[in-house]
Amino acid sequence: MRIPGEISPKMILFDQEHGKVFFRHYRMVLLSACAFGALRRELIETLGCKQARGVLKRFGYAAGFVDANALIQMFGDASQRQHLDYGSCLQALEGMTSVDVIHEKTVVDFLAGRFHMEAYWDNSFEAEQHLSTFGRSDEPVCWTLMGYATGHSSAATRQRTLVVETECRAMGSRRCRFVADFDNNFPEDLAVQRRDYQAFNIPAAFQELERTIEQQQESLKKSETSIAHLKSKQESGPTLAGLTQSDAMRRVVEIAERVAPVDATVLISGEKGSGKELLARGIHERSKRSEKPFVAVHCSALPESLQEAELFGYAKGSFAGATSEHESPFESANGGTLFLDEIGDLSLAAQTKVLRALEEGEIKRLGENRARKVYVRVLAATDQDLEAMVAGRQFQKDLYLRLNVVSINLPPLRERDNDILLLSDHFLRKFASKFSKDVKRLSTEAKRALAEHNWPGNVRELENVMERAVILAEGNEIELRDLPEGMRGRSQSGLESSPTELSAIANEQDRIVKALELSNGNREDAAAMLGMGRTTLWRKMQKYGLDPKPSLD
Ligand code: ZN
Repeated sequence: MRIPGEISPKMILFDQEHGKVFFRHYRMVLLSACAFGALRRELIETLGCKQARGVLKRFGYAAGFVDANALIQMFGDASQRQHLDYGSCLQALEGMTSVDVIHEKTVVDFLAGRFHMEAYWDNSFEAEQHLSTFGRSDEPVCWTLMGYATGHSSAATRQRTLVVETECRAMGSRRCRFVADFDNNFPEDLAVQRRDYQAFNIPAAFQELERTIEQQQESLKKSETSIAHLKSKQESGPTLAGLTQSDAMRRVVEIAERVAPVDATVLISGEKGSGKELLARGIHERSKRSEKPFVAVHCSALPESLQEAELFGYAKGSFAGATSEHESPFESANGGTLFLDEIGDLSLAAQTKVLRALEEGEIKRLGENRARKVYVRVLAATDQDLEAMVAGRQFQKDLYLRLNVVSINLPPLRERDNDILLLSDHFLRKFASKFSKDVKRLSTEAKRALAEHNWPGNVRELENVMERAVILAEGNEIELRDLPEGMRGRSQSGLESSPTELSAIANEQDRIVKALELSNGNREDAAAMLGMGRTTLWRKMQKYGLDPKPSLD
């Protein structure tokens, strides 16, 4: 099957942290085909074939209809013909079947009011499940697929269509085959199948449902904005003020505090998890805009095709499927601060529009002609090298210069060594109170493991580690065993290793000799004291000519 470039697995967003999968803003679930087969079997056995067929067709219809609307929202400019193709691709992407259109039997010309399609379904999961549960059938069984295709094509064409399977693998045919047409063009013998959809008026019910969902999303977004605003007020306190003892971080805080009240654009760079958003919130809270909203947009979470619509908003009806208007975050943040996180992930087209919004202080929603004045301070963040991206023409130079009025580079946590234990303590208290646990401190071993870890995920990683440790802790002390396995290695031996004694020795060879001496020649313990793996120690011993024989233990 030919797959249009716009349709790709990237369109499915996985939010593992919250246990959610999305296609556009529609929540999806992944289920095993066998589980579906079991449900299908039970429907057939309890309701009979005819009723089960109706239920599954209407279920498929719902799936196709909702997917079609999501695609229409994403690709408002695409033709109805393209939307039919997208539907086929999505059926493949979702693992239902692969669609192979018989072009010589297919006419799609909506302007002339003509639509007739014939095609094959290969690898239908439903025929597969039916065959393995019930064996050969006398009638086509790809009911969910028919329902999906009917729902999708009805939504995509905005007319009543019908998709009927004429041959099926479950009947012994080599391939499943179907025909699609406007409902009223069907010969009467096939058109009886439309009754399967008449349990209730599905299109009307779904349009109603769609409207409700859109309205709820709008109001949800508004309350999220105000919650975020309140939260930012609560959380910002310790970030800038207290939680640092490292010189590198103190300099960052100093710059941030100086720049906060000046209405300048700030570009915050730093590794993932280093606290860029918290710093941005801190700047907002110390600015004259602190009473107004702080709105964060995570550019990396926006699929490229949606960036402009999500950043600048759209008018109701601006494209098929835009059933309600969508406010731009520039508007939501009006008077306050707009934080554009991972700005390097914006498309060049979206970058151009952001630059224009900054220069002109106004935006236009998609599908609207009137400009809306917006008065926001923009803070941007990135973990990419924007200067290199400018040189490689992946980032607009003018936008870079505009954003980079003040730049703040957040040091990674491993370079803020004094802060690791300070922050651990902060998170310990936070999670102990959140989970109502009487955890009060870290054991010496646990502290050492935290201090020795490299923290590639920075503050966020530390926060996750501490959350997990507080949950796992049994007494009122966090022990080494409450930390993730990968962090325990170095301090696990439980030996009274002498890190100070060892670290005072500058020469590596001497340090190894000393460690071997302290461990009475036990290489495992020596390696633990030195904070290296056993093989690494063995390699170094060979290098320095210290007992090159392989260890027997
Ligand atoms: Zn079939």
